[in-house]
Amino acid sequence: MKITYSIVAPIYNEIDNLPELHRRVKEVMDATGETWELILVDDGSTDGSTDKIRELAAQDESVRPVIFARNFGHQVAITAGWDYARGDAIVIIDADLQDPPEVILELVKKWKEGYEVVYAVRGEREGETWFKKFTAAMFYRIIYSITDVKIPVDTGDFRLMDRKVVNVLKQMQERHRFPRGMSAWVGFKQVGVTYRRAARVAGVTKYPFRKMLKLALNAITGFSYFPLQVATYVGFFSAGIAILAIPVVIYMRMMGSGAFFGQATTLIAVLFLGGVQLISLGILGEYVGRLYDEAKGRPLYIVRDAPEE
Ligand code: UDP
Ligand code: MG
Repeated sequence: MKITYSIVAPIYNEIDNLPELHRRVKEVMDATGETWELILVDDGSTDGSTDKIRELAAQDESVRPVIFARNFGHQVAITAGWDYARGDAIVIIDADLQDPPEVILELVKKWKEGYEVVYAVRGEREGETWFKKFTAAMFYRIIYSITDVKIPVDTGDFRLMDRKVVNVLKQMQERHRFPRGMSAWVGFKQVGVTYRRAARVAGVTKYPFRKMLKLALNAITGFSYFPLQVATYVGFFSAGIAILAIPVVIYMRMMGSGAFFGQATTLIAVLFLGGVQLISLGILGEYVGRLYDEAKGRPLYIVRDAPEE
């Protein structure tokens, strides 16, 4: 059977959201009058979501489960969704219903107008702490300003992509992934649709600060060399100050000033440069570690159970 729409939802401990997700996606997709499938990627859930997914699949043949052997992370779960999707258009959606399935119809409308990537822009966000909103806003803006690709701000992974785009993305086998950056990088005809991001229906966020930081690092290292260049800039800057300081100090000494005597000044200078060097080494380490991961060439994810074609 030819499938028009593949809806991909990554699942990590979302047991209480699954029936509602399935119900709303089904309602919306049936209204299109075209064929669709719902790919539920179980990212190593431990709360029984796995069995719930199997149950839904047994009831409804449109549901196709992909079960991971362990937790590989949201980005990798999305990737598996791309790999198993058979549709002409692929939609990525959060399982907690923060991305209302009804918005899919608006994405579809733009797709039918000929856009190949239709991303959903978060206009308002409900039910999230100011800390989450603030860090998210900062995150999008920092990424936007230092990466080489113009990744739309206030945009998550909720989007529709044409088959052509997903075929290109499937060839991008990088290990530390930032799907929304990848989908901006490929080009094609892109457009944004603004929506209201709802509150979670059930459960809690699976994105603590630590994971957000990791995602930010993936985004920056994956799409920019800027952090590597910072060492060069700071190096030139400190060397410049040092050179300028030499004649000043000589002059002050000749005038009999004792302004720069003492260990404190030396210590500050040494600690400052030592700090800058260690930070630069750490940044280098981030990139080298990533290179090492690429070199190992391990599979991106391990599937315990996958749907047959
Ligand atoms: N998720 C996942 N693996 C993870 C963390 C999250 O598949 O390791 C899924 C999660 O089940 C949800 C989506 O990614 O469907 C977005 O996660 P969440 O709602 O916790 O993030 P937030 O909306 O708070 O940024
Ligand atoms: Mg969420």
